[in-house]
Formats: sequence, C-alpha cells, structure tokens
Amino acid sequence: MPIRSRWQIEVPRISLPTYLFDSPTAPLPTTSALISTANPDNHFLSHAGYRLWSQRLALGLQRAGLAQGERVLLFSGNSVFFPVVILGIVMAGGIFTGANPSYVVRELAYQLKDSGAKFLICSEASLATGIEAAKAVGLSEDNVFAFDDGAATFEGRGKSRGNIRHWTTLLASDDDGRGFAWENQDTDDFLNRTIVLNYSSGTTGVPKGVMITHRNYVSNCVQGIHVFSLDLEYKAKIARSRQLCALPMYHAMGQVLFCFQGPVQRVPIFIMPKFDLIAMLEAAQNFRITDLLIVPPIIVAMAKHPATRKFDLSAVERVISAAAPLGREVCKEFEKLWKNGSVNVKQAWGLTELTLTGCTFHPATISTSNAVGELAPNCEVRIVSDEDGLHEVKHGERGEVWIRAPSVMKGYWRNTEATKETITKDGWLKTGDIGRFDETNHLYIVDRKKELIKVKGLQVAPAEIESLLLEHPAIADVAIIGVTVKGEEAPRAYAVLQQGSMATAKEIQDWAAERVSRFKRLTGGVRFVEAIPKNPSGKILRKVLRDQARAEGGDS
Ligand code: AMP
Repeated sequence: MPIRSRWQIEVPRISLPTYLFDSPTAPLPTTSALISTANPDNHFLSHAGYRLWSQRLALGLQRAGLAQGERVLLFSGNSVFFPVVILGIVMAGGIFTGANPSYVVRELAYQLKDSGAKFLICSEASLATGIEAAKAVGLSEDNVFAFDDGAATFEGRGKSRGNIRHWTTLLASDDDGRGFAWENQDTDDFLNRTIVLNYSSGTTGVPKGVMITHRNYVSNCVQGIHVFSLDLEYKAKIARSRQLCALPMYHAMGQVLFCFQGPVQRVPIFIMPKFDLIAMLEAAQNFRITDLLIVPPIIVAMAKHPATRKFDLSAVERVISAAAPLGREVCKEFEKLWKNGSVNVKQAWGLTELTLTGCTFHPATISTSNAVGELAPNCEVRIVSDEDGLHEVKHGERGEVWIRAPSVMKGYWRNTEATKETITKDGWLKTGDIGRFDETNHLYIVDRKKELIKVKGLQVAPAEIESLLLEHPAIADVAIIGVTVKGEEAPRAYAVLQQGSMATAKEIQDWAAERVSRFKRLTGGVRFVEAIPKNPSGKILRKVLRDQARAEGGDS
C-alpha cells in the first residue's frame, strides 16, 4: 500500500505569475523583496518592483520576437534580477532555462542546443564563454544579451559590449510594462504548459531538460508553505523572517525557495551572487538572517570552520538542509554553534523532476536522526523492490522511492523515451533513490540506485564525463562512479587504456579538468582496469565498480 501524506490541500488553478503577484495591477507591498548582500543600499527590488521589472522584460521579449513556448537561457550567478528574468520570460509565454555560470563552452553549448534557446542572456563575467558557445550552435550575436550578476544595473545604465547588447535594452518602459497583462487561465492545457527547463540527468544518461509547468510550481510552493504554516507561531515567524539565498537560482532549490516561495510569503530574500563561507557568515550576521535553507556541504563547512564562531548568528531560528545526504553527527556539531540549543537542523528531500520538495519536517517535530521528513501534502510514495522493480516491499524495508504528486514534472524535454522510463503510466515518478519509512512514516534516504553523483549539492552525470573521456586518444573504454573522499562524493574514472598507451592517471585527470567545470573534475582519481564490467546489453554494471571501490579500501 502506498504511504499517503497526512495532508491533502487545495492547489489554486492559476499561473505562476498570478500566484506571486495576484494580478498585473493589484496593490503589492513596497517593502523589499529581493536584496543584494553585496550592495544592499542600492540593489534591491520591492514586491511591486519585482512584478514591474518582470512585466517590462516580458513585453520587451515579446517585442523582440519571443513567441509562446520559445526558450531563453540565462547563464549567470545570482542577482536581484535573476528572478525578474525567470518571471519576465514566463509572463511573455516563453520557457526559462538556467545554466551554471561556471560552465565551460562545451557544457553551455550542449544546453543551448538541447533546449533550442532563441535568446541567451549571459553575465558579463561569463560573456566570452557565452559568445563562443552561441557561435558553436549557430546562435546569432544579435540574440545574445549581457547581464550583470551581483552588480545589478538599474534604469538601463548597463553598457553594451561590442556587438552584444545589454539586457536592459530589451526592457519596455515603466508605463508600457505596467499595462502588460500576462496570460492566466484555469484550463488543464494552460496550467500544464511548460514554463521552465531545469537540467537534470535523472536516473541515467546525460543531462535532460526537466519540463516544469505552472501547476508544478504553484503546487510545490503551496505544499511547502502549508507545512511551514502548521507552526503555531507561523504568523509572527513569517513577519520577522529574513532568508539568505546562498544557493544557485538556476537550480530547483534556489528557484522554488527564493524566487517564489519566499517572495509569495512576502519574506525579504538576501541574495548572494554565489556561495562563499565567510561572505555568507557576514551576511547572516549583518542582515539578522532567521532562515538558513542550505545544502550539506555548507552545514559541514559551518560546523568545521573556526571562523564560524566569530560571527553572531543569534537571529537564526530555522535551518533546513536538502539536496544530498547529511549525517546526524555533523548536525549535532553544527547545532552547538547556538549555545541555547535553539537550532535543530531538519532535512528535506526532493529532486528536480519533482519540481523540488517531496519530504519535509513538521515544524514541531525535532529531528534526531538522518530522516528527511515526512511526505509533503498531496504526495504519495511506494517503496518498490530494488531487485525486481515491480512489487512493493513491506513497510520499513528499503527499496526504490516512487512518488506521485501534482509537482511531478511533465516529462523530459524532447525525450519521450527517458520520460517513459521515469514516469509510469499511472503517474509514479521513479526517483532512483533508495529509501525506507520508519514507524512514524518519516523517510530515510539510504542509498542511490541512479548513476547520479552529487558534488557540493550539484549534479554530475557519469554519462557526460564518460563521453568526454572517450574522446581521449589513450582511452578505450571508461566508467565513472561516485566515491567518498573526506566524507564527500567525488567522481572517479575506471578506464581501460588503448593497447600500448602509457597515459598516466594524472594526465587523464588534468586533460578532463581543462574540459569540464571545476565540480565535475575527477577528484576521486583514475583507476586503470582490464575491462569495464557490463551486462549482455552493454550497460555498465556500476554496482560492481562501487563494490570494487569499497574493497580497494580508503574512503570510498
Ligand atoms: P537534484 O535534482 O539536483 O535536486 O538532485 C536530487 C537528488 O539529490 C535526489 O534524487 C537525491 O539523490 C539527492 N537528495 C536530495 N535531498 C536529499 C537528502 N535530504 N538526503 C539524501 N539525498 C538527497
């Protein structure tokens, strides 16, 4: 029998912009919604400003020729304008897709091509990469715009760079923007329109565009807020809440929490251009941050780094960690940063294919284990035998987590086969995570069946690194798995060398390092083997390699 959430709630049948801003003209608070931690006095947007800038961009994009369903790729770190770009594209009827600003040309070109983006908006710091990637996929420089991350430019003061126009040249005037009405219907057709492609490799293969709809986002926000609102002090807490965004907004977690869920509750979001431990501690202290919604590497860094103790973090009331496994021991160390024992780290669990959240903790529950919470409203889960992938295991036993919820993605972009493999006919999303429930229906994620490796909370798809390494002249065959190095996941290559090749592990590591973003480097090492274990149909038997890594000892 599936486990069902103990909460069933209504989800409004409205578009994401309507959910956030009520209507194009409804009165909105003039208090700050989005504030740059780097320049808080000059770079901020009110709730009304967030809507108006989005409307101006939406109209500008339509005037520039963006038609319904066309894609725009934003290649940038966080800024107060990042959410504006998402909403502007969505209001215009387009589809937003965001890429990690540390991507190298080949990685960005892949996403540009796969999404078929019509426009590329690219932070000034990454413009050279953006231009080269655009060229590689045949996207005209007329369709590339410069964007400022961190150092936001107001009132169209941004300069164009050579042929590349500044994104503010796209903006319609204030007056025209104010009159812009986005589409809002309550039909299934409209609510199931794709508005964002978040890239994820899912259970197997290379990164794919995860199609997220109006209904997906609105449901997932409503689900998350419902649980938080069960706090008896919810009203008072939300009134004083100040959230710090140290997570990338191109990822589901940064998006849902800080572009939508925080602003819709009228919570000010203090936005960091990118994560940096000391800058984060400073920001948490100076802005009296109450909520830290973070990932395990940040918890570990805060618990272990001596600098943490130098900062006043006394305003912090709520800490939630998600995106990767986290042990209770390190949580206990982290909680000691607050002498009065006022902070309890709670985990949440989710995945890009689920929009974001699947499990979270009731505010009154104290977490004392590795549990990732209980099922969010409107969710149901089956724990399916990892062996045959067919029957449900007994309550309390481990198996693959299948989840059904209104926030399950529409499917993978232009990839019906992967969609069919991931979502069953009756709507169950196979997450590739191995979990079990305890007697109180709290879920534990105990392993990962899928190939995915998570480094610093970011996805590394083995298939992507494998296809790159196969281009190396010395490599005849290769498989990538995740191993544990100093408590963190790290990609390791098992490689078969071409006959007669004398390439060393270091050479291969360095060669790969030049061709991928830093977090995808082979920090777990390169091991040479006679053959890659495969099943008769040629599928890599990663479990055999994982067992081998464990047997080799060390940290894996
Ligand atoms: P992403 O789609 O990038 O958000 O990655 C989702 C994956 O991260 C999940 O399928 C899990 O494998 C992992 N994950 C997310 N939250 C947790 C958690 N609390 N504990 C363990 N793994 C997690």
